[in-house]
Amino acid sequence: MTTTPRPDAPALADLRTRFAAMWAALEPVGRDGRSGGYRRFAWTREDHDLREWFAAECRARGLDLTTDRMGNQWAWWGDPDAAPAGGNKRGGNERGGGKGIVTGSHLDSVPDGGAFDGPLGVVSALLAIDALRAKGFEPHRPIGIVNFVDEEGARFGVACAGSRVITGAMTADRARSLTDADGTSMAEALRAAGRNPDALGPDPETLRRIGTFVELHVEQGRALDLLDEETPVAVGSDIWPHGRWRVDLAGEANHAGTTRLADREDAMLGYAATVLAARSAAEARGCVATVGKVAVTPGGVNAIPSHVTGWLDARGADADAVRAAVQDVRAVAEQHGGVVTEESWTPTTAFDPGLVRRLATRLGGIPVLGTGAGHDAGILANAGVRSAMLFVRNPTGVSHSPQEWADPADCVAGVEALTSVLEDLAGGAR
Ligand SMILES: [Zn+2]
Repeated sequence: MTTTPRPDAPALADLRTRFAAMWAALEPVGRDGRSGGYRRFAWTREDHDLREWFAAECRARGLDLTTDRMGNQWAWWGDPDAAPAGGNKRGGNERGGGKGIVTGSHLDSVPDGGAFDGPLGVVSALLAIDALRAKGFEPHRPIGIVNFVDEEGARFGVACAGSRVITGAMTADRARSLTDADGTSMAEALRAAGRNPDALGPDPETLRRIGTFVELHVEQGRALDLLDEETPVAVGSDIWPHGRWRVDLAGEANHAGTTRLADREDAMLGYAATVLAARSAAEARGCVATVGKVAVTPGGVNAIPSHVTGWLDARGADADAVRAAVQDVRAVAEQHGGVVTEESWTPTTAFDPGLVRRLATRLGGIPVLGTGAGHDAGILANAGVRSAMLFVRNPTGVSHSPQEWADPADCVAGVEALTSVLEDLAGGAR
């Protein structure tokens, strides 16, 4: 695992230029010309192009690229299966020994998402490796970069599908049978992308290589911006409990002009009541609830809806409050003959307290924040992987929108912070 500085390795002063160049390469992929937002969904052409981009960037750095059972991409600087330097040859699985320090994030997006959610963590990881090499750093532990597939769940409805499947948090059968809006199952999408859906499943071999995972991400709220400190980076302490529920309401299709109001069974009315109930339940219970996706059948302007399906997202610092809010919503939906089905639920995820402290101290006592956004780092933490996150300041707090933004100087500060963290974690002492 000896590494000498490469002649082409950039000095830190070049980081801003390098960052801008990598950003420019990603910018057109999956960008909607009208909204300016991104549509990068799992196992689509855009996703394929992003995976190829990632592979090429890793190849250019001489990293060893592997793909796990789910299709998540892992690139290694150093051999994650080798014994630790100076350790015994078969000691790779002893506590903390021989395991990698992994960073990275995801490249997919929500519909009309921003440029930073996901890609910032992947680009920063690649640049952090460049920066470490530029200073002649020789890691005592292998360093890995991951590109998690299908983090947003935009296409098949379950967030963090890539990390959920390899950790066993979601079964392969469930993942394969999820369908997108066109009725295409994940199994079919995988096959169309040239992958074998039968390969899906828990991947202990991949997980065993991860000693520590640190995901850098743009902050998705304004907590850091609202702090009166000149610090563009924070450490993530925990992820709020959160879940998704499907709400189905049935009615009867009929003519919008000739059917008397009294004769109608309009599924949209129950749906509307349910959406309003979600808002007031969230206000009453001190959490947040959103219905951001709806499908109407038959979907004609002049047809009374025979079926409406909506998707509810609810989160909060307190799991019981979120559960209670969803119960309130369920009660209203049921009054209108609706059915509420839980599609996913993730309890509070606390990142490793020792790691959180170590990162905050290493970076000069920077703030430590919880977040209402889910991340692959949370799925790994729940699977027992020592994990934490770094957040880069978001001056408007806007995310999952084309307006999502982070200042270039803050992005570079994020790369520098990640570089420092990797240097600390991979540098030898625990
Ligand atoms: Zn993300």
